[in-house]
Amino acid sequence: MLRYLPQNVEDVARWYIHDPQLLKFIDMECYIWSVVPAALTPMINAGMVFSDRHYGGINYPKGGVGQIALKLVEGLERAGGQIRYKARVKQVLIEHGQATGVELNDGTVYRARRVISNATRWDTFGKLVPPENIPGSERKWQNRYKKSPSFLSIHAGVDAAIFPPGTECHHILLEDWKSMEDPEGTVFVSIPTLLDPSLAPEGYHILHTFTPTWIEDWEGLSESEYEARKEAAAWRIIDRLERIFPGLDAGLDYLEVGTARSHRRFLNRQDGTYGPMPRQILRGLLGMPFNRTAISGLYCVGDSTFPGQGLNAVAFSGFACAHRIAVDLGLV
Ligand SMILES: Cc1cc2nc3c(=O)[nH]c(=O)nc-3n(C[C@H](O)[C@H](O)[C@H](O)COP(=O)(O)OP(=O)(O)OC[C@H]3O[C@@H](n4cnc5c(N)ncnc54)[C@H](O)[C@@H]3O)c2cc1C
Repeated sequence: MLRYLPQNVEDVARWYIHDPQLLKFIDMECYIWSVVPAALTPMINAGMVFSDRHYGGINYPKGGVGQIALKLVEGLERAGGQIRYKARVKQVLIEHGQATGVELNDGTVYRARRVISNATRWDTFGKLVPPENIPGSERKWQNRYKKSPSFLSIHAGVDAAIFPPGTECHHILLEDWKSMEDPEGTVFVSIPTLLDPSLAPEGYHILHTFTPTWIEDWEGLSESEYEARKEAAAWRIIDRLERIFPGLDAGLDYLEVGTARSHRRFLNRQDGTYGPMPRQILRGLLGMPFNRTAISGLYCVGDSTFPGQGLNAVAFSGFACAHRIAVDLGLV
C-alpha cells in the first residue's frame, strides 16, 4: 500500500535520481510546458503529459494546430450548436446568486440554464463577474496561484537552406541553468514545416520561437519605444539562434514579433499570462479547482481549472466539465 502519495514531479524524480545535474533536466522537462520547475509541477498533470508524450508517440495535426479548432467546430455545429465569432462577453448575468446568462459587448443577452467560462480565472472573476459577486473561494485561489509570465514570440519565414537535412522540429536553447526561468532565459523553437511542408511556400520554412516575458516590460511605452524594444528583443533572440542555425539572420524572409501585449490582446488573457502557477511548493494534490464555482450555475473550464495548463490538461477539463453539467442537469 502507498503510504506516501507524491504531490509534485520532484518528489518522484528524487526517488530515482540523486545526481543534481540530472535533476536539472527534470526541471526542464517540466518547465517546457508548466513554466515552473519540477517541485512546482503537479504530478497529476505531469502524469498526463508524460504518458501522452511517451506512449504512442507525438502526433501533429496536418495543416497546423488550427485544424483541431476547425474539427471541434464541425462537431459542435453538427450537434446543433452555434458559434458567435468576434463576440466579446461583457459580463456574466447573476440573479439571486444564480448565473442566468451572459451579456455581450454589443448588448445581446443570452439566457441559459448553465454558463461556462473558458476565460482565465482572473478574467472570469476580475472582469466578467461583477465585483460584488466574487466568492471568497476565488480570493483563496488567488492566494495559492499567481500568473505566470507571458511570451515574446517571433514568427519567421526562413530560407529552407538554413536547416540542413535531418534538422529536428523542436529545440530548446539555454546557456545558463541559473536563468532557466528568467525573461529571455530559455528559448523555445519549433520549425513545423519540417514535418508538414504544405504550411509554407516551397523553399521556405516557418520558424516559431518564443521566450518568457512579463507584461510590465511592455507597458507605458510610446509607439516608437514599443517598436524599438520589440525589434531589439527579437534580434537578441535571433543572434542567440544564429549559433545553432548559422546563416539564420541572412536567411530571414519574414519576421513578426509578438509581446505580452499581443498575447493579452489576441488571446484575451489578463497580462497575456501563459496560465496559473503555484506560489509555493505543492503539498496538495488537488490545488486546482474543479469545474463548478461557488456561484450556482456558473462553471469554469480551461487552464485555470483542474488539472492545469497545456492542451492535454485543458482537453481533460473540457471533458470533465461537460460530464459535470450533464450530471447536474440530470441527463446521465
Ligand atoms: C506560445 C505558447 C506555446 C504553447 N505551447 C504548448 C505546447 O506545446 N503544448 C501544450 O500542451 N500547451 C502549450 N501551450 C499552452 C496551451 O496553449 C494553453 O494551456 C491552452 O491553450 C489553454 O487553453 P484554454 O482553453 O484554457 O485558454 P485559451 O486558449 O486562452 O482560450 C480562452 C478563450 O476565451 C476567450 N475569451 C476570453 N475572454 C473572453 C470574453 N470576455 N468574451 C469572449 N471570449 C473570451 C479567448 O479569446 C480565448 O479564445 C502554449 C501556449 C503558448 C502561449
